[in-house]
Amino acid sequence: LVSRMQSFGTTIFAEMSALAASTGAVNLGQGFPDTDGPQAMLDAAKAAIDGGRNQYPPGPGVPELLTAVAAHQERFYGIRLDPASQVLVTAGATEAIAATVLALCEPGDEVVTFEPYYDSYAATIALAGATRRTSVLRFPDFAVDEESLRAAFTPRTRLVLLNTPHNPTGKVFTRAELELVASLAREHDAWVVTDEVYEHLVFDGAEHVPMATLPGMAERTITVSSAGKTFSATGWKVGWLSGPAEAVAAARTVKQFLTFVASGPFQPAVALALGLGDDVYDDIAASLQRKRDLLCEALGDLGLDVSRPQGTYFVIADAAPLGAVDGLEFARRLPSLAGVVGVPVSVFHDDPEAARTLIRFAFCKQDSVLHEATRRLAGAR
Ligand code: PMP
Ligand code: GLN
Repeated sequence: LVSRMQSFGTTIFAEMSALAASTGAVNLGQGFPDTDGPQAMLDAAKAAIDGGRNQYPPGPGVPELLTAVAAHQERFYGIRLDPASQVLVTAGATEAIAATVLALCEPGDEVVTFEPYYDSYAATIALAGATRRTSVLRFPDFAVDEESLRAAFTPRTRLVLLNTPHNPTGKVFTRAELELVASLAREHDAWVVTDEVYEHLVFDGAEHVPMATLPGMAERTITVSSAGKTFSATGWKVGWLSGPAEAVAAARTVKQFLTFVASGPFQPAVALALGLGDDVYDDIAASLQRKRDLLCEALGDLGLDVSRPQGTYFVIADAAPLGAVDGLEFARRLPSLAGVVGVPVSVFHDDPEAARTLIRFAFCKQDSVLHEATRRLAGAR
């Protein structure tokens, strides 16, 4: 394995899902829902398969999905895009991020991101031969620290890799925090790649503010999203990016040689889903907000400090009262201790000390599963 990949090994999600499978533990580790998305979307995929849409789709994506992504950005955020030149369909958000970073970063360039970060960010930055510079979001409020964020920017900064709502913290960046990021990006003439896959999973009336809607930012922002989270279809791997035509063209060039194309029959189905009524979007957020409350209350009842998330389907708890000293070691032991799997937050940090005893639990699960998990955790106390 090449040296720039040597620190990456097997992802924590693969390790923890395998552990759940081999021990029979309740899997609140890897973030994927255990129920399916809208029936009309599922039916549309079946119709696409039966209708013979089983060969390579067009490189940039099927036209109806390009149009649907543009319509979605206008409907929810007032962002106007030309579907032909400003949208690209990808194999999930993961490929959108990789294609963009690989298209925009020269070896030696620097990428500013927050830690904890979603695991593919560090690996993708390394694949590009770029260097990451991070600012730490600290439990329990995960507020942006202006001083360390400023210090992360240098004359070599090429882009900022942002994620809001944020995995693994569940943080929804405030407008003021985003304006700070935006002003630093403008000052350093940097691109912003903003991963907004959890854009519709926000609670308590919190507002998801897309970076591209801030003044002067549309021209330097590439927005990434995915059907996986909004429509509970993580296995379909339908994602997309949008932004200035020159950046989209650059990402398209790279994407041709990563996967070329993907998910043919699922693309028209996602196009249909994006156009469904507000009730579909509201229902998923309302259902997850209730599940968040259920899990947060139960973890709180166990005496754990919990950071109550305003978005995503993850909650971070401090597992110190359960005997955690080192999060990774504890997460590996949790199945035998309690019959539950969670993900250690420290693996998403360059500085693991910032999250030593923190564990992330996913609540995108049926209520019965959440109840069983909390019952087991209570038994382990
Ligand atoms: N970004 C974040 C923040 C995520 O949580 C995920 C899903 N785990 C992804 C990207 C990847 O999305 P996809 O499955 O569409 O590639
Ligand atoms: N996004 C999911 C999570 O954060 C998992 C994705 C993956 O397994 N790579 O849990």
